[in-house]
Amino acid sequence: MSDQTQKVAIGLDIGGTALKAGLVTSDGVVITTSSLETQATAGVEHVLQRIIGLIQELAAQAQGDGRSVEAVGVGVPGTLSRSCGMVIAPPNLPGWRNVPIVKRLSEATGFRITLDNDANNAALGEFRCGAGRGVKNLVMLTLGTGIGGGMIFNGRLWRGAYENAGEIGHTIIYVGGRTCGCGQQGCLEAYASATATVARAAERIESGEASTLRELLERGDALTTKRIVEHAAAGDILAQEVWEETCRYLAVGCINIQHIVNAERIVLAGGMSAAGEALRRPVVEAIERLGSRMLGDPPEIRIAELGNDAGFIGSGLSVFEPV
Ligand SMILES: [Zn+2]
Repeated sequence: MSDQTQKVAIGLDIGGTALKAGLVTSDGVVITTSSLETQATAGVEHVLQRIIGLIQELAAQAQGDGRSVEAVGVGVPGTLSRSCGMVIAPPNLPGWRNVPIVKRLSEATGFRITLDNDANNAALGEFRCGAGRGVKNLVMLTLGTGIGGGMIFNGRLWRGAYENAGEIGHTIIYVGGRTCGCGQQGCLEAYASATATVARAAERIESGEASTLRELLERGDALTTKRIVEHAAAGDILAQEVWEETCRYLAVGCINIQHIVNAERIVLAGGMSAAGEALRRPVVEAIERLGSRMLGDPPEIRIAELGNDAGFIGSGLSVFEPV
């Protein structure tokens, strides 16, 4: 098949702040990309029209290049039903309750639409084209506002009996611990997400502990994990302790994953993974320190490679997956 007639997918990643999309081949090669602000506060219909516009724009580009669009793969955050084609209650898209997104998009564009959780699609993207290349079994943790998860076993996404597998952020690491957004207490996410890391640092500073981060707070600048890592590297003890704790909690998460699934590789993705070695190294060291010999070979820990593109690339690739 010549390149000019190769089938492509339109991959879409629907986030609370941005809609990212691209034309993706079945090998994960990105032909072109496009993105828009989500404008989520303007309501469901407004966002749906923006998504439809993006699909039509990319479809026109594909047609102009003489390529045939196989289908549109869509990734959304939070609760959804793949089998019903419904978005049920995504945390970052206000008002999106029980939206039949597959029906709406297929009626408006004429394309076949596939729907999945954004963390699943991002894991598929990294598995095929990024930090997951070369293995068959992979778990990916997406570290950001929350902690998302995606699991690939024997080369296929594992979704579970009711499509809710991989919610590693809501595994409990501390009985009776901090309250999580999901309603449980002591979730990994309530300790080791970017939000939780910033909250732990802010609580200690507000209680009067010394830190170079205090200046930042007093200036009204936002406290972020990026800043915590920077201040830790510059020698601030509080920032070092908070970051070290985050990495230790993540190591506990990885040890738990490993005892259950024995993956070849765990990929750390999401905004916090921009810390690179400053994240990977302490997590690996804490796994070595805290993990049992029963683990056997510890999992290989890698930082994701595709950044924010993993979602739409994986959404595109999902179109070519066997059902
Ligand atoms: Zn939770």
